[in-house]
Amino acid sequence: MLDKSRLRIAMQKSGRLSKESQKLLEQCGIKINLQQQQLLAFAENMTIDIMRVRDDDIPGLIMDGVVDLGIIGENVLEEALLTRQSQGDNPCYVTLRRLDFGDCRLSMALPMDKPWNGPKCLQGKRIATSYPHLLKQYLDKLGINFKSCLLNGSVEVAPRAGLADAICDLVSTGATLEANGLREVEVIYRSKACLIQRSGNLSKTKQSLIDKLMIRIQGVIQARE
Ligand code: ATP
Ligand code: ZN
Repeated sequence: MLDKSRLRIAMQKSGRLSKESQKLLEQCGIKINLQQQQLLAFAENMTIDIMRVRDDDIPGLIMDGVVDLGIIGENVLEEALLTRQSQGDNPCYVTLRRLDFGDCRLSMALPMDKPWNGPKCLQGKRIATSYPHLLKQYLDKLGINFKSCLLNGSVEVAPRAGLADAICDLVSTGATLEANGLREVEVIYRSKACLIQRSGNLSKTKQSLIDKLMIRIQGVIQARE
């Protein structure tokens, strides 16, 4: 049975944030055995449980108050926030701090042979993305109408496959874009991993554990700068 008195931290199970998330928690002195394929791992030396899930599930787990802390990319968090808001919800969470990993940018990219002279080129175009709300927020501000094509993977093949005129996707080096005959033309959102907490009061014990962790995280990040 899950013990609710233990602090629950959600992190990505496997992917671009998982190694760094695990390293950060370990450097804060949390002894965890994450070797097993289990959803839950228990800290041996602190009253902490680690929940390992898909990154997309982390904002919801925090907003629904199911876990106390989460490590998540701001891109995924912001998209989840906008999605819930568009459904009429008023999701709440607290950002404790930005972390020093998970850097990436959400960018517009076009086929190499297509001209670009600013975002107005996107007027009326179909854009493939996994981040429809972040894209809409950006283009709405510029007064540009577009059609979206929601893809949760292989976004970069959409123009070649004739599914879209342009894409809006995460980029770190740009190599994937280039390999698909695309060029990055505009950054619409810069992201890093961040540590978030569910809203609402936590028990005194949990809150003082978080306070202790925050001091350690500060120290760990400062030492790596
Ligand atoms: P999951 O199986 O957990 O859903 P995923 O495939 O959605 O994983 P990853 O590719 O592991 O996600 O990326 C997780 C997060 O890592 C991204 O949302 C982003 O915040 C960050 N990230 C950093 N660099 C990149 C990059 N080059 N491409 C994609 N994401 C990146
Ligand atoms: Zn994901």
